[in-house]
Amino acid sequence: MNEPPLSDTSRDPAPLWTVGDHVVHRIDEMPLPPQTGRWLLPDATPEAVAQAPWLRPDFATADGTLRLASHTFALETNGLRVLVDTGIGNGKPRANPAWHNLNSPYLGRLTDAGFPPEAVDLVILTHLHTDHVGWNTRAQDGAWVPTFPNARYLTSRTEWDHWAATDMDEHRRQMFRDSVHPVREAGLLDLIDVRDGGTEVIPGLRLLPTPGHTPGQVAVELRDAGRSAVITGDCVHHPVQLARPGIHSCVDTDTTQAARTRRRLLAALADTDTLLLGTHFPPPTAGLVASEGDSYRLVPVPSSVTGPAQASAMAAVSQ
Ligand SMILES: [Zn+2]
Repeated sequence: MNEPPLSDTSRDPAPLWTVGDHVVHRIDEMPLPPQTGRWLLPDATPEAVAQAPWLRPDFATADGTLRLASHTFALETNGLRVLVDTGIGNGKPRANPAWHNLNSPYLGRLTDAGFPPEAVDLVILTHLHTDHVGWNTRAQDGAWVPTFPNARYLTSRTEWDHWAATDMDEHRRQMFRDSVHPVREAGLLDLIDVRDGGTEVIPGLRLLPTPGHTPGQVAVELRDAGRSAVITGDCVHHPVQLARPGIHSCVDTDTTQAARTRRRLLAALADTDTLLLGTHFPPPTAGLVASEGDSYRLVPVPSSVTGPAQASAMAAVSQ
């Protein structure tokens, strides 16, 4: 079998998808280590993975190890450069050894894709977890300064209020000190009231409330010219949760609400041509949600292609 190695992201350089006039680039930070899946999604056992053969080889290895990735999505839309989440970041003291003191070429990749830091207009934070806010800031002269000095940074007010009222452990306080508070203190952070049906922040881009992983977690919906896509944030961590939507994450604040949110989202997307872009899905990262019995599977949509490829994936779904 030509199964790619667990750490391989080289098969899919500089991937992008188009959604009408929106262009979505995936900017890789790093593959997450193989032990991540069993920790993060404890019920995604090798037996559970084996029951969904379509997960292999892209989303799981032959022995049932889940592949997961840290990347962000960079959007060209309405003449703006928009970043959705900011990954783990470089040089940050972290309790998770895989995230500690990284030195990745993420910022170079972002720049190469056409998003030099000073040109980013908007940074959307789906939620305030360590692996989604890291590149909010970078080290400069011994201080943490905003990486995107000309951007507005957005997160939901519910998310902000949740963490403001939480008695955080020292690791999380450190993360807020180095990656969130410098942005707020620079006057760059906006708190968005996200309505039940979603809140449009720029034309064709809406924040959708997807609570459960955290109370204020949002997904990002793109619409234009009859096409649509949803960026998951962490309401779906891995495609195994399409096969088994009840599989929870060990870091969900409310697993019951998270499962309800996931089922509602998947039911809404099932057998439509809305592209699902997974914030932690390894390459090929994007696909259509197809009904399979009483659950779902992901039908990958290759990058660097537009409507017709989605149409052919739709044809595959209906076969
Ligand atoms: Zn995450």
